[in-house]
Amino acid sequence: MRPFTSTIFAEITALATRTGAINLGQGFPDTDGPAEILDAASSAIHGGLNQYPPGPGMPVLREAIAAHQQRFYGLDVDPGSEVLVTAGATEGIAATILALCEPGDEVVTFDPVYDSYAASIALAGAVKRTVTLRWPDFAVDEAELRAAFGPRTRVVLVNTPHNPTGKVFTRAELEAIGALAREHDAIVVTDEVYEHQVFDDAEHVPVATLPGLGERTVTVSSAGKTFSVTGWKVGWLHGPAELVAAARAVKQFLTFVSAGPLQPAVATGLDLGDDFYAGLAGGLQAKRDLLIEGLTAAGFEVSVPRGTYFVVADAAPLGFTDGVELCQRLPELAGVAAVPVSVFHDDPKAAPSLVRFAFCKRDEVLHDAVERLSRLAS
Ligand code: PMP
Ligand code: GLN
Repeated sequence: MRPFTSTIFAEITALATRTGAINLGQGFPDTDGPAEILDAASSAIHGGLNQYPPGPGMPVLREAIAAHQQRFYGLDVDPGSEVLVTAGATEGIAATILALCEPGDEVVTFDPVYDSYAASIALAGAVKRTVTLRWPDFAVDEAELRAAFGPRTRVVLVNTPHNPTGKVFTRAELEAIGALAREHDAIVVTDEVYEHQVFDDAEHVPVATLPGLGERTVTVSSAGKTFSVTGWKVGWLHGPAELVAAARAVKQFLTFVSAGPLQPAVATGLDLGDDFYAGLAGGLQAKRDLLIEGLTAAGFEVSVPRGTYFVVADAAPLGFTDGVELCQRLPELAGVAAVPVSVFHDDPKAAPSLVRFAFCKRDEVLHDAVERLSRLAS
């Protein structure tokens, strides 16, 4: 695990803290989630739900997850055998990869890629195969996709909406991925943690809803993003019972169970009305537009994200050709922290001048950040 000793998020957050910069690097909201779920967590703690919950997760949460999948996507999920509550999406992904992959098996991923995927693949002794999503639209190249599959392909690990690019995979792209998964008898593991953070007329297409894919798909999500409680680390996965049982076998020995009193609170969140979910996306879309306008005015070229709470910008028009160097100097140059996109690529020369900014922040913080970034051009 030597290549994985530090993470870019920890590094940039430490840099932002040390310099007092506005941290648009690590993605976490600067306001707490809905009062209903905070109150429910507090009631659960004071109500005595403080000992080990059941291994698969508390029934109230597994039922709420199944009901959520039915309500938003029309998916029939059995809360008894097809749902596992995990310590965040991170554990859900790790447990699934560890359960499904033997050493030497291959996992197809999409670069730039969320950092925990490569680490989970390495823990399993599996091999990462990469399809590159390229600036500015980050579309899937079908020939490259096909070339990434082979006789050892065991899993294709998808992330839609996609961190760091903000891309929402199209139905056609997901169908092409699904067709190759079927052809190679591979399992699709799909990380949909930003499922409710989708903008404009973009549509989040859950992989499990595509014809013929439900039976070979493990869907992972998390309360951290939807309910703005990234520190709670409550996530979940669902899929065919035998795949969920395999992930559960691994989870038992990673964390055994996940935080007890937070589980009924997350169930309360999943049951919130449609206005909560619409408000989440609408509020973030306005923040996205605010940041995009500011970045553009500051001289960056921007790829407009259709989902997540990240925007990727090219710093080359400002004369910065090395994103890593820029992100190290940005706190001193402008009092803002961001993350270089090249660290999410196998090839360090891919996306050299792209940087990622998070916009899940209060409006006054975004206004301040934009004002600071405007100094870069002068
Ligand atoms: N997947 C993606 C794409 C993410 O952006 C994140 C969170 N930053 C995670 C997984 C991890 O989620 P959790 O905090 O629930 O483990
Ligand atoms: N997912 C968050 C991001 O992409 C950070 C998570 C972490 O720090 N590991 O910024």
